Amino acid sequence: MVVLQDVNKHFGDLHVLKDINLTVHEGEVVVVIGPSGSGKSTLCRAINRLEPIESGTITIAGEQLPEEGKALAALRADVGMVFQSFNLFSHKTILENVSLGPTKVRKAKPAAAKARAMELLERVGVEHQAEKYPAQLSGGQQQRVAIARSLAMEPQVMLFDEPTSALDPEMINEVLDVMTQLAKSGMTMVVVTHEMGFARRAADRVVFMSDGAIVEENTPEEFFTNPQSSRAKDFLSKIL
Ligand code: ADP
Ligand code: MG
Repeated sequence: MVVLQDVNKHFGDLHVLKDINLTVHEGEVVVVIGPSGSGKSTLCRAINRLEPIESGTITIAGEQLPEEGKALAALRADVGMVFQSFNLFSHKTILENVSLGPTKVRKAKPAAAKARAMELLERVGVEHQAEKYPAQLSGGQQQRVAIARSLAMEPQVMLFDEPTSALDPEMINEVLDVMTQLAKSGMTMVVVTHEMGFARRAADRVVFMSDGAIVEENTPEEFFTNPQSSRAKDFLSKIL
């Protein structure tokens, strides 16, 4: 579903993605972990073409990412992305936040988009907030709306970049639960997170990044109990 081959990127002198090779199969959940500054966000942004790459190729569902224009917009709609900050439209209701994309980009009929949005709000447990505005919701609720908004576009892949890092502790699990359900439903997911419980529970594979490179790739079981590299051992000793 997602294939990166020999992807490289610099920010000035900083080599931020170093010969990245990564394949994410349909229905697979890949959790990306690693120290701050190791290139995890840049990797996610590259997959979505929010960040141009210098060399290598990225394909989504067999199609190479186009450089720009309509084809890029279409492909980007296939790749949902949820960030640390919720990025909801503050002057739109929750329901409008979720139904807007499908009507604008997917040309869905407003009534159908609304009905589908309500289903998704139910799925993430915020259906009673549909007529409210983002500021009236808790951070955990807003992030669940952001997930529903991405799902409304019927993406083929969902990218999550530290979706719970900005949340108060008591709200983290309600968001992780929605993500766990999504993983179980067969969605292809790439998740950057420091939530090791989620990684153990939901990941098919853990990818460990350090200094712009993928240093280790393994099942969560193997990775957490038997890390191979000194950098992974060091990282785990600090966070577990
Ligand atoms: P992570 O998400 O793993 O913390 P990032 O992908 O955000 O890492 O960043 C990787 C490195 O690239 C860091 O050293 C960061 O400071 C640098 N970086 C990220 N974005 C930019 C940018 N737009 N311009 C310059 N340097 C950047
Ligand atoms: Mg980051």
